[in-house]
Amino acid sequence: MEISGKTSVCGIFGYPVEHSFSPAMHNAAFKEMSLDWAYVPFAVKPGGLAGAVRSIRNLNLTGVNVTVPHKQAAAGLVDRLSPAARLSGAVNTIVNRGGVLTGHNTDGLGFVRSLEEESGAEINSVPAVIIGAGGAARAVAVALALNGAPAMFIVNRTAERAAGLCELINNNTGCRASVLGWPEPYPPGGDGWAEALGSAGLVVQTTSMGMHPNTGQFPPVPFNLLNKGHVVVDLIYNPGRTAFMNMCEAAGCRVYNGIGMLLHQGVMAFELWTGRTPPVDVMRAALYRCLEAR
Ligand code: NAP
Repeated sequence: MEISGKTSVCGIFGYPVEHSFSPAMHNAAFKEMSLDWAYVPFAVKPGGLAGAVRSIRNLNLTGVNVTVPHKQAAAGLVDRLSPAARLSGAVNTIVNRGGVLTGHNTDGLGFVRSLEEESGAEINSVPAVIIGAGGAARAVAVALALNGAPAMFIVNRTAERAAGLCELINNNTGCRASVLGWPEPYPPGGDGWAEALGSAGLVVQTTSMGMHPNTGQFPPVPFNLLNKGHVVVDLIYNPGRTAFMNMCEAAGCRVYNGIGMLLHQGVMAFELWTGRTPPVDVMRAALYRCLEAR
């Protein structure tokens, strides 16, 4: 890669940011397409985001990704918001067009795209069960609802957060969302689980349970109610196979990890910045090289 006076610069704002896979993923795509672009990590400390967002205009950055802990604060600092970013209250991609900053949320749409690509699952015909109600759950729930999911059940250790997310979906979309009780200490199948898993075709695990280094953890869902009719996605990508995925696969489900979502949120950001279709396989290979190097 040769940097010149004409190079378009984009990057990622996060803290910490040094473990991000995004620079490798995007720079591999720029190189493959011989684009005079560069993607740079920027360590933006908590409290430093407003200044960093101003610098997008001042330094004429073409755009940035935004990651932990800044996604929600970023939504209040841009000029415009996409529908998904407005509804989820979080921005993971900013596009700079002539000094006007538009905030997007490609996390949820990246999830939908990867789901369709990997599993062929139909999101607009059967309900989904979403485990967790944090930032990733919010992005996924909003994207599913905006893309035609008819209904969803949301279950979270802290029930108030699940109720808040249901309210957001019910008040703003045509999707019907309801709270499902956290399965412990409920008996398997109790508290609506039999009905929910009986109608659902998709189960999305969005909690950090099972993420490195806590690889022994998994949410205590009633696995006896899962079967081959369920597509299960665990948003965790490190490790690439979680204890939850193993339990669901043993119950007969088709299981997928979070790499596809990570890849496609990046693909969509790339498209927003450059207006071009990136080499998805090159980006995927770069992600796997990062994972193997861990
Ligand atoms: P977050 O906003 O901090 O939310 C964390 C969620 O996990 C909450 O629902 C929390 O429940 C739950 N949780 C955490 N520890 C728990 C425990 N011991 N028992 C029960 N519930 C627990 O985090 P996030 O940004 O949503 O990220 C969540 C996961 O998604 C992470 O593993 C992250 O790597 C993954 N992710 C993947 C992608 C991708 O591209 N594949 C993108 C974003 C995130 P409470 O509300 O009760 O605390």
